[in-house]
Amino acid sequence: MKKLVLLGGGYGNMRMLHRLLPNNLPEDVSITLIDRVPYHCLKTEYYALAAGTVSDQEVRVPFPEHPRLELKYGEITNIDLENKMVHLDEGEPVPYDDLVIGLGCEDKYHNIPGAKEHTHSIQNIEKARETYQTLNNLPANSVVSIVGGGLSGVELASELRESREDLVIKLFDRGKIILSAFPERVSRYVQNWFQTNGVEVINGANITKVEDQTLFNHDEPVHTDVIVWTAGIQPNWIVRELDVEKDKQGRVVLTKHHNIPVDEHVYVVGDCASLPYAPSAQLAEGQADQIAQILQKRWSGQELPAELPTIKLKGVLGSLGKKQGFGLMAERAITGRIARILKSGILWMYKYHNG
Ligand SMILES: Cc1cc2nc3c(=O)[nH]c(=O)nc-3n(C[C@H](O)[C@H](O)[C@H](O)COP(=O)(O)OP(=O)(O)OC[C@H]3O[C@@H](n4cnc5c(N)ncnc54)[C@H](O)[C@@H]3O)c2cc1C
Repeated sequence: MKKLVLLGGGYGNMRMLHRLLPNNLPEDVSITLIDRVPYHCLKTEYYALAAGTVSDQEVRVPFPEHPRLELKYGEITNIDLENKMVHLDEGEPVPYDDLVIGLGCEDKYHNIPGAKEHTHSIQNIEKARETYQTLNNLPANSVVSIVGGGLSGVELASELRESREDLVIKLFDRGKIILSAFPERVSRYVQNWFQTNGVEVINGANITKVEDQTLFNHDEPVHTDVIVWTAGIQPNWIVRELDVEKDKQGRVVLTKHHNIPVDEHVYVVGDCASLPYAPSAQLAEGQADQIAQILQKRWSGQELPAELPTIKLKGVLGSLGKKQGFGLMAERAITGRIARILKSGILWMYKYHNG
């Protein structure tokens, strides 16, 4: 029996499971999925979990069941590429024949003193839950600062606005305008929404230091009761520590067949992989589709295609609370209620197909 081990049950490896199970797994292959939590987490909804507008249960989806799928729950502490073993915090190491590393990402603090110690996070479910507790236990009229005006910072700020009308919410962003990766029309729409809904956007921010309840913007102290960090990501620390080639963002450089250059049995999927696009759940899934096909070909001794098709991305959608949204679909900017309805529809479909 050959053993395929999947590290992390996020968007990438959940798609791997759905492509291989129930009928596309050769009889002589079994799968072990390892994750620290016993369910698949909808990371794209952590902003709502932290703001307190969806329940914990709504961001969890059960892993599939199959006689040749073993689910193992524990903290992965090290990947030994030489001996083909995965080490966990407890129990025996897990050997593999093929490995797909899909451990997602963590906050990146850009060496800003105090940022790691004094800010809250929505990058994993445990931290998003802590952030939820802290935000929702705040006394009336407290000040919340969110650092980073990309997709997750914008979604958190707007959701929190709807969740807690009393809070003073400040969104600090480095750019001249928030959502700088989007067309200007979208950025302006979102910036106007914040103005109308009483979220203060601080453009051109440069956070130089963070202390307990104080942010330093261009070295000027700003008092704040809680700070949430959404200003950058980097691959999971286990991947950062792997002795393999990485790109400037610390993501693993792969061959066109998504395996590391020195071992065709080790693949990397999702936020930890160096791909020519910004990391996203959609990208992780598109890449997983290709990895599943490559594995099937390698298992059955078929020749691999010389080139793989470009991974098709449909676009990005963001929410502004429960009624408004924004996005970019097929390169067209969309804003307003329709964008929000589309986003909710996609989430519903995802849960329906995976749950
Ligand atoms: C607020 C927010 C909104 C977002 N919105 C969108 C969106 O609208 N569209 C979009 O496409 N993308 C969005 N993203 C990005 C998207 O969530 C990620 O790109 C996606 O989750 C990456 O998938 P992945 O499979 O690489 O890893 P993940 O989905 O992050 O999964 C990683 C898994 O690894 C497990 N794990 C990590 N470390 C360990 C360890 N040491 N031991 C055991 N298990 C471990 C985790 O528990 C987790 O299950 C958003 C992200 C955030 C934070």
